[in-house]
Amino acid sequence: MPSTTSAETTSAAATRKTDVVIVGLGPVGTVLAGLLGRRGLTVTVLERTATVFPLPRAAHIDHTGLRAVQELGCLDQVLPSTIPNPGIEFIGQDGDLLMRQPADMPTWSGVPTSVYFHQPGFDTALRAAVAELPEVELRLETEAVAVVDEGDVVRVTTRDLRDGSTRELEAGYVVACDGATSPVREMLGIDLEDLGFHERWLVVDLLLEGSGLELPQKAVYHCQPARPHVVIPMPGNRHRIECKLLPAEDSDAVQQPAAVAGLLEELVAGGGSLTVERAAVYTFHGLISQEWRRGRILLAGDAAHQMPPFLGQGMCSGFRDAMNLAWKLHHVLRRGAPEALLDTYQDERSPHVRAIVERAIEFGALVAVLDPQKAADRDRRVREDHSALLFRLPLLGPGPLVLAGGGRLFGQPTIGGELLDDVVGSRFLVLARDAGALGSSAAWWRDALGAWVTTLDELVDPDPSLRAWFDQRGTGVVVVRPDRYVLAASGDLDEMTAAVRPLLAEPAPIPAR
Ligand SMILES: Cc1cc2nc3c(=O)[nH]c(=O)nc-3n(C[C@H](O)[C@H](O)[C@H](O)COP(=O)(O)OP(=O)(O)OC[C@H]3O[C@@H](n4cnc5c(N)ncnc54)[C@H](O)[C@@H]3O)c2cc1C
Repeated sequence: MPSTTSAETTSAAATRKTDVVIVGLGPVGTVLAGLLGRRGLTVTVLERTATVFPLPRAAHIDHTGLRAVQELGCLDQVLPSTIPNPGIEFIGQDGDLLMRQPADMPTWSGVPTSVYFHQPGFDTALRAAVAELPEVELRLETEAVAVVDEGDVVRVTTRDLRDGSTRELEAGYVVACDGATSPVREMLGIDLEDLGFHERWLVVDLLLEGSGLELPQKAVYHCQPARPHVVIPMPGNRHRIECKLLPAEDSDAVQQPAAVAGLLEELVAGGGSLTVERAAVYTFHGLISQEWRRGRILLAGDAAHQMPPFLGQGMCSGFRDAMNLAWKLHHVLRRGAPEALLDTYQDERSPHVRAIVERAIEFGALVAVLDPQKAADRDRRVREDHSALLFRLPLLGPGPLVLAGGGRLFGQPTIGGELLDDVVGSRFLVLARDAGALGSSAAWWRDALGAWVTTLDELVDPDPSLRAWFDQRGTGVVVVRPDRYVLAASGDLDEMTAAVRPLLAEPAPIPAR
């Protein structure tokens, strides 16, 4: 992180206190700002660039990410410009189909399982939704140049990149959503754990309009060792091609227009005539931050973890970080929860993300083998057993807010035709089979935590899958956290309450003798 030069002026008069300063308005910083602002917290977001990220990056979002978008209130703007995941084919080295993953495998999330999108339009829609919130201030072309945790407050020095002026902000907490190179993480001297994956890939977005070419409306992994690559359909008559670079290839040379056209011709008959919208070489890594929180400074998104994009989970994981953090910051800042609540952030998120990074690395090593003999072995193994190419979201890591039956995303059935998350809002949900299963602590959830406490019997026209869920588990009550993860789904509500109450609210007053 650059330090402030003496030629710049710091305006003490401009110092004011904000609940949370977010460094970085990438997709994760944007979602976090929206989730906090909608909870009534004041948020200032610092972003050094003027526009959304221009190069080809995320193309896929899953149902967990879409539920974050839903909470921001812009699902209806975003979904029409996506295309449902049409399924994925894996082609082996002899050109035969190894495996077909069916299209849009259903989940209980109430939104599409997985869709492809065009990131500039997506980022712009999210930013617009967040900019409307009166609690959120977006400062573009403004860099965080120093972040100092003073114990009771974090002091942030900012520099306006248009005129070089510096200002100071005071924040209750700072969340670094400042991407893979995270200047804030660097400044704190927090190390990354290297999971041992570093590969260069060329990523090209293509416009098919006017080319006379039609590419298949499905994602295809071409696992041929001569040139492992993946072709993905995208909205707006676009396709994405991601190619693994061979060891001798030069990163700069392969990005030149003539080289890209040559490569496209090699991969797609007539591909040299396609219009290249954008192309970039990335080195994909598998890295996890060793600390996700130091005092009043937290890391989220690529600042906390990076993974190869083969599962389309980097940004989605960052959205889940934001969902996890937003309600915890809200409860600490507004509902009197102890700061220890924030320790559960890394405990829950880091093992979850690690499992995904490891899976993405295994997946990449499998689909992008360069040795023909190893590719032949792989093809034989995959034909016999598809499981190596399948992926399921892991549970949250263990912690005091993941009790028996917890740690998994709760579904989103409809209640009276409305999606459950819209009905619940940004609250806890305590849902019991009947009033008898609630117990005496129900009032605490309602009054101290603002939870929606209800029973199956009280719900008007619930989707039948909800009762079936209770029947399958034989449980009387479920507590769902505001990030939509199940806190507990087994046992007695009074016992659950006793276990989590110290972390979620001010200690109960000691009765006078
Ligand atoms: C080729 C490719 C394909 C991918 N495909 C997918 C996919 O399909 N699905 C998926 O889920 N993920 C995918 N990912 C991963 C995804 O792109 C990232 O995980 C996501 O962009 C991370 O978002 P972020 O907000 O954490 O960081 P970023 O998007 O990097 O945003 C960080 C922001 O912080 C700003 N910033 C940095 N320092 C400062 C500072 N000091 N002051 C102010 N601002 C600062 C930067 O300007 C930037 O705007 C892909 C990645 C790549 C490379």
